[in-house]
Amino acid sequence: GAGGGGYGGQQGYSEERNSARRVADHYSARSNQTLEERENSPIIHLKKLNNWIKSVLVQLYARPGDCVLDLACGKGGDLIKWDKARVGYYVGVDIAEGSIKDCMTRYNGDADQQRRKKFSFPARLICADCYETRLDEYLCEDAPFDICSCQFAMHYSWSTEARARQALANISALLRPGGTFIGTMPDANVIIKRLRETDGMEFGNSVYWITFGEEYNEKKFPASRPFGIKYKFHLEDAVDCPEWVVPFHLFKLLAEEYDLELVLMKNFHEFVHEYLQKPEFADLMRRLGALGDGRSVQSTLSQDEWEVSYLYLAFVLRKRGPPPSQ
Ligand code: SAM
Repeated sequence: GAGGGGYGGQQGYSEERNSARRVADHYSARSNQTLEERENSPIIHLKKLNNWIKSVLVQLYARPGDCVLDLACGKGGDLIKWDKARVGYYVGVDIAEGSIKDCMTRYNGDADQQRRKKFSFPARLICADCYETRLDEYLCEDAPFDICSCQFAMHYSWSTEARARQALANISALLRPGGTFIGTMPDANVIIKRLRETDGMEFGNSVYWITFGEEYNEKKFPASRPFGIKYKFHLEDAVDCPEWVVPFHLFKLLAEEYDLELVLMKNFHEFVHEYLQKPEFADLMRRLGALGDGRSVQSTLSQDEWEVSYLYLAFVLRKRGPPPSQ
């Protein structure tokens, strides 16, 4: 039912395409950082925390031998996480050609540096718009997948109802019954709350800012138009592009239409608080360097980084139906 639902107020088709292109170009243009550049980043601890959160999700929900679909896989920063989970097969899809190239390099090993990390699973990498394209046509030989992951990218589908639906339709069509969908995205509740607390249309701190357009001057977001609520997001040394508000209750409802049931949703602060209590995950946090000796995560990250992490949430959905008998 692309565009067929009861929600109006979509942007024009071509303007929509342009926005997706802008997002793609932005990510394509960001080349791989050297290790030194990475360590000097003002958000190095935030990046480490994000990696920890994704690792925890992978460790909790991936099983050895799993067939993995990584939507908006980017440069393949999660390949190692899937390798550690000993998955059996990996398909990565991203709209940004430059990122897919980097991901390929990471998977194949960089010949110049003579560092060849061999991954234990075969992989396929595809450059496509996950929210526009019917992926089941591309991937009919690879499906069904046991687990689908969409990290820091689901919100790019929320520019129109048609795209949000295509995203969920793809995930639902490609997952096996009982399969898992894990992801991370901005927490709309926090973003809207921050917007209402501030005087103007812009808020942020030393590492990020968010700007809403004048059309939202009243800071009201009618339930009749829950798609295409655009803001500009800038995160120092990471992101600078248009993004869209994803009202979580609506995400949950729409996902249900595609047989995807909510299992878990936690703001990053809550997520950290809960899973850091488990010794194996606390160890992992130490190994990743997001937990200084004897210090809390909060004091390892700068106050401003910690505030950014509050802007995000993690979710887990499950495809309805009994898992196939083995
Ligand atoms: N998932 C990766 C990670 O966690 O490191 C990358 C996250 S990055 C913040 C967002 C990614 O979403 C970018 O690689 C971008 O190219 C991708 N993306 C945005 N819109 C997309 C679309 N319509 N289809 C596929 N990928 C998209």
